[in-house]
Amino acid sequence: MHAPRRRTKIVATLGPATSSPERIEALIDAGLDVARLNFSHGSADDHRARVRLVREIADRLGRHVAIMGDLQGPKIRIARFADGQIELQVGDPFTLSIQHPVDAGTRQIVGIEYPPLVQDCTPGDELLLDDGRVILKVDSVDEFAVHTTVTVGGPLSNNKGINRRGGGISAPSLTDKDRQDIRLIAELDLDYVAVSFPRSGTDMEQARRLVREAGSHAWIIAKIERAEAVADDAAMDDLIRASDGVMVARGDLGVEIGDARLVGIQKRIIQHARTLNKVVITATQMMESMIASPIPTRAEVSDVANAVLDYTDAVMLSAESASGQYPVEAVQAMARICLGAEQEPTSVKSHHRLGETFTRCDETIALASMYAANHFPGIKAIISLTESGHTPLIMSRIRSGVPIYCYTRHEATQRRAAMFRGVYTVPFDAATLPPAEVSEAAIDILRQQGLLQSGDWIILTKGDFYSNSGGTNGLKILRVA
Ligand code: PGA
Ligand code: MN
Repeated sequence: MHAPRRRTKIVATLGPATSSPERIEALIDAGLDVARLNFSHGSADDHRARVRLVREIADRLGRHVAIMGDLQGPKIRIARFADGQIELQVGDPFTLSIQHPVDAGTRQIVGIEYPPLVQDCTPGDELLLDDGRVILKVDSVDEFAVHTTVTVGGPLSNNKGINRRGGGISAPSLTDKDRQDIRLIAELDLDYVAVSFPRSGTDMEQARRLVREAGSHAWIIAKIERAEAVADDAAMDDLIRASDGVMVARGDLGVEIGDARLVGIQKRIIQHARTLNKVVITATQMMESMIASPIPTRAEVSDVANAVLDYTDAVMLSAESASGQYPVEAVQAMARICLGAEQEPTSVKSHHRLGETFTRCDETIALASMYAANHFPGIKAIISLTESGHTPLIMSRIRSGVPIYCYTRHEATQRRAAMFRGVYTVPFDAATLPPAEVSEAAIDILRQQGLLQSGDWIILTKGDFYSNSGGTNGLKILRVA
């Protein structure tokens, strides 16, 4: 018998610490499923070089690794200080001004390149700088500046981000830089685009339109990181429905809603995304101490394991892999913890959406397959012949220990499925085979890899026409000869 294969996927951000061919190969070896390019850092050529390396090395190793481009979005930032950094003490007065020269900040005042901030602030507001390391209370606002008092002090350096407690700072969600980066995403044929700070489904529809106009087929991920996006279930669901998947972007979200509510909301986002048949990534500070340490803390182990037990599709590394000292160890640790948490019986027991109605034929086939697979112990694999990957995606919304194999001829689908929990890619072109031989050929691939034995049962799903996406309408249960 094979040792169980990890079902939860690993997303790691590439950066200066992970740009060499050796490091990228080591990351893929350690279990990288999705490489993230963070467009807040690095040049277009840096990203081009990383994409080329990931694709070349994954091909050589016979692995299917997806690539996600993460747009910078409208993060509002302070300008720069004359000395690069200042130190703020509790009780100090401090001003953010749209008129102050952008390179000449002092301990009293700093420039800001986003004029609407002034209208968006009112006395009593709390502004969180540098992910909440420094907090300012707004005392008064005039035409050109926000005057504040420091309530949490500390060092503050150039270009740090600003959030408002409670959210509601009204920057539009796609900037000119994002539009440029969308063209790069199309040029590089990336598999996923993550949109930063969307306020609603409308922002996601606009992003999708721009991505398609640029000629990209990437799936669109909404980063949930504004208080407005989680104000109630309707707001959350609106954003989820308009996207192909979501990221629980805990860095900014935690700053906007406060750490006390963060974990409850994280669990709700994961659950809603799965129920709405979307992918979900849990992100930020999962292995933070591994930036400088080769082993995670118990709290970090617990954080990753709990996201796995909540049935996230993927867990994500940011600075740990982009600029930390132990990027490969961080991926190895995540892989180990995911696999361990998946051994818990709750990871494979499903409630199967009892009492719900389905809306589509392919969804009905996918969910019927999972019910069958989870209740017939003879079944050792699910084989889904698919164009877009949609059927295995829906299957993998259901908790199960049975591996789901995404059989497809499309390279884009082969890579995309790397994000889905419990789904593994097998390149396969059913249209080149006589119809009567397809099932046997599909089973043969897994048997040759030792993943099936004679006497095992499998479930196979497909459409009557192989070129139709969303056309899955058949489910067979077959015995391996
Ligand atoms: P970021 O997004 O790393 O691009 O800020 C993730 C987050 O906010 O958690
Ligand atoms: Mn963010």
